[in-house]
Amino acid sequence: MKSIKSKIIVFSMLATLIPSLGLGILSFQQNETMISENVTRELRALTNYANRELDLWIKEQILVVRELATSKILIEGLSSGSQPQKNKFIKQQKALEIYLKSVHKRLETVLELTVVDIEGEIIASNVDSPFPVALSQNWPQDASVQGDVVGPPQWNANYATAILSISVPVLSVDDFILGALIVTFDLRNIQPSLKDKVKSPPGDVLLLDKDGVIMLASDVSIINADTPASLEPGALRRLQDNPGELEIFHGPRQENVVGLAYMSEKPPITIIANRSHKLIYAAWEQQRDLYIGLISIIIFVVTTIAFRMSHAIVAPLQKLIDATEKIVKGDLNVELTNTRRDELGQLTRMFNQMTGKLRQSQAEITAASVAMQQKNQLLETLSATDSLTGLYNRSKLNSIISEQLARYERTRRPFAVLMIDVDNFKTLNDSLGHVVGDEVIAAIAKNISQCIRNVDFAARYGGDEFVIILTEANVDEAMKTAERIRTHVADVYCSALDKILQVTLSIGVIQSESQDKSVTSLLSRVDSALYEAKHAGRDQVYCMQPPQSNGTI
Ligand code: GH3
Ligand code: MG
Repeated sequence: MKSIKSKIIVFSMLATLIPSLGLGILSFQQNETMISENVTRELRALTNYANRELDLWIKEQILVVRELATSKILIEGLSSGSQPQKNKFIKQQKALEIYLKSVHKRLETVLELTVVDIEGEIIASNVDSPFPVALSQNWPQDASVQGDVVGPPQWNANYATAILSISVPVLSVDDFILGALIVTFDLRNIQPSLKDKVKSPPGDVLLLDKDGVIMLASDVSIINADTPASLEPGALRRLQDNPGELEIFHGPRQENVVGLAYMSEKPPITIIANRSHKLIYAAWEQQRDLYIGLISIIIFVVTTIAFRMSHAIVAPLQKLIDATEKIVKGDLNVELTNTRRDELGQLTRMFNQMTGKLRQSQAEITAASVAMQQKNQLLETLSATDSLTGLYNRSKLNSIISEQLARYERTRRPFAVLMIDVDNFKTLNDSLGHVVGDEVIAAIAKNISQCIRNVDFAARYGGDEFVIILTEANVDEAMKTAERIRTHVADVYCSALDKILQVTLSIGVIQSESQDKSVTSLLSRVDSALYEAKHAGRDQVYCMQPPQSNGTI
């Protein structure tokens, strides 16, 4: 059975939880979207800035290289390369190297300066073993069309930094391509400007080569000089597939970051700006935890109130149920204590009134039932007894004999019947009056009752006739009882005359026989016995013996 209490508690919890959670989720989702949009804006600005900085820096460096490429020493050095005099060429080559070294000293951002001829052969360099020259495939035709060639930035293990090479063609005075000046720059030079930009709010800008190797970072500590860090390939692919879109990935500081990518084509480089996921969402998460805590407290409070409220409703209802159960089982002694003034108090009061009325009705019904039983008993007694003598009447006698016959039929244990008639009663009646006659009949009945056992039955058969049933008795015992009655009744005290009257009785006796199939036949037999007693002279007992022997005492 689902109780009202649990329903109220569940309802109150849901009524609190659904709106607060719904509103909470909605508002936190909006907040999250807002945060994401803000972060996207910031990070896009950072990548754009980094790209612009890189672009500007490269342009500046191109200008520097172009200016160097117009140097007279360079042009002369390359022009002499075609001359057959070997000594002069070596001299020029030396002069070039000295020149390049002096330029290298002047330009802090430059790592290497290498001069190549039209064939791409290294003529001179400021270092003993310069990088292998990487000119475009269509050199020198490309140089004549495009001019400057900016190589893809890459990590260089020798210098332990990211490098960028710019090749500028060296032209003769009559505009022929003599060779090229290849200047390799250290990309770390743009790191300070990146660092300044990402200082606030904290984050990182990363410049990655096409393989995802981090060449430059706004924070130098990210770059490990020995083995340059690289982004996890899956994350890099997601970032590159959705440029400008926020992604969550494992950042170079070994923590989850939120970042986006900008794909620069010239030079081919991926710029990634990211910020710590934890820092971005710290306030949001703190607010969310606070909200969850608050909701938990509210639910606890609401549930406690609901519990108390439902208890206040259910407890008196339970008392009423228990009391009703008692009443159903028949116990009306139920009285509920009631201190409440609300509807339940009213119900309890009315319940007490109802049980009070039920108790009263039950008492009345019990009393009426007892009176009825007494009356029924009286009626039963009256219907079975003779009003003058108090002995059984004739109809009761009939039913007693029927029972006795049935019992005899079953057990074969005989019973005896005595029929008693007062001798010459008419004369007494006529001479002393009917009232005296009644008193005599009643007195005789009383005397007869005193002469028989409790288990025997005495009935007034009519007028001055009585029939006695002696249960489980044979003729011998019956004759003794008859004789006792006859002698005991001889003197009857009459209060109306205040004297003792002499009465005699004639008594017929029989014992039940197997031939006695009905009340009438049995009574007829005993009546015959009485007749014989009368006929023999009255004041005697006549026993109708079983068929073989008859006789009087
Ligand atoms: P017997 O010896 O042959 O019996 O003579 P008897 O006079 O007694 O004759 P019987 O038994 O036939 O008469 C019974 C009389 O009893 C008849 C009637 O006047 C009288 N009687 C019958 N019922 C009552 C009664 O209720 N009260 C009184 N006082 N007398 C009654
Ligand atoms: Mg008589």
